[in-house]
Amino acid sequence: MFLDPKLLRRITIDITANCNSFCPGCLRRVASDVPRLGLKEGDINPAIQVGHKGNMPLSTVKNIFTPTVMGGLKTLDFNGTFGDCIMHPDLIPILNHIADVSDSQKEQRKANNRNRRTDLWISTNGGVRDKAFWTELGKLASERYNPNNSEVIFALEGTDDKTHQMYRRKVPYEAVLERAQWFMDAGGTAVWQIIEFEHNKHQIPDARKLAEEYGFSRFDIRRSRMAEHISNSLREEAIRTGVMTVAEKETSYEHTGFSKVKKKDMSEGAEHSHTTEAYKEMEVKAKKIVVEKFNDDMDDYANNCSIWCQWGNEGKLQIEWDGRVHVCCHMTAYFGRPWNKDSANEQGQPDNEYQNYYVNKYDDNWNYTSHHTLEDILHHKFYQKDLHDSWKNKVDDPEKPRLNICIDNCGSIATELRSEKEERIILGE
Ligand code: SF4
Ligand code: SF4
Repeated sequence: MFLDPKLLRRITIDITANCNSFCPGCLRRVASDVPRLGLKEGDINPAIQVGHKGNMPLSTVKNIFTPTVMGGLKTLDFNGTFGDCIMHPDLIPILNHIADVSDSQKEQRKANNRNRRTDLWISTNGGVRDKAFWTELGKLASERYNPNNSEVIFALEGTDDKTHQMYRRKVPYEAVLERAQWFMDAGGTAVWQIIEFEHNKHQIPDARKLAEEYGFSRFDIRRSRMAEHISNSLREEAIRTGVMTVAEKETSYEHTGFSKVKKKDMSEGAEHSHTTEAYKEMEVKAKKIVVEKFNDDMDDYANNCSIWCQWGNEGKLQIEWDGRVHVCCHMTAYFGRPWNKDSANEQGQPDNEYQNYYVNKYDDNWNYTSHHTLEDILHHKFYQKDLHDSWKNKVDDPEKPRLNICIDNCGSIATELRSEKEERIILGE
């Protein structure tokens, strides 16, 4: 069964839409002024709620991490699109609850060939909470979750506070290091994650050395949004103009991946450009695929490229802060932009093929774990039939069209380039 609730490999969850930071480019804020919706750059995204309304209640958590799900779940991944889980006031009780359910399913986990304890991954900016919290989290991660594959991934974007805060705004560098230390002292495994930008890439070798000195177990370099971005941009541009061929774009294409970041108030010389050599190389590869396999025609590509559902085929799914289930983070990100004319109407209401051909035909709250258990949701026909049918259809199918989001993120280009996005270096070996 696709996304079998008894055998999920990973649930990625955003248990809160709150965050203490203000990273340029984060979806929780509006990226630029949108006068028609009365939005200003930097406003909170109207698709989310903040304060206590932005925190997932325990009742929803219970609907997700049921005995059925915990009897087979391999990895629990707290990695937010809109928030940082450390901001949820009940993170520790939630983690204890999930561990209790997992413990109650020991036999089933064994029968399903899963480790006795679930893996716990937490991604955070590490900018809040006191020593007692980080100590408790360190103990929890190492004692109640799989000690061999549980980790907190701290975002550390350089080797000094100034460089770090160019991206991780309002998160003091030294404070993150201190919290990581508290967590490690209590037995937790910490990972240093850095996003490579033009302004910090010269610091990467020293950051790696520091990570080793401080006792981090791994050093992850993220070069995110590349494959997807190339694929998206090529296609969007071709369809928008309707005339430009991929070969023509070889000379006219401009990188726009981090244009919004560039607009922000950057210090001198701190441009957030993503135009790296690796990026250009990937662009060339993407174009080659379209030219050679799809007759240099993006419409041909959109209708006929093979779609490999990167998340669902591997038993992975994502749950939003409000309990909504998506197969993947791409869906959360794409449909969480009410100002985006590709996915919403002039009034900011959802208006896209997913909404119009699928969601509007289903019952209200069909994919909300605030209303249903996760296993009931995964038995819904969207996951078990309609989505699969869409991948076999053309983009203009009158009933179940191929979704642009699937073409952009899981079409041949993205699938072939995806492996080059991230580098993981094990430290201390
Ligand atoms: S830490 Fe994460 S959730 Fe918070 S603002 Fe930055 S990118 Fe967004
Ligand atoms: S974009 Fe579509 S095909 Fe890709 S992971 Fe998400 S649901 Fe699957």
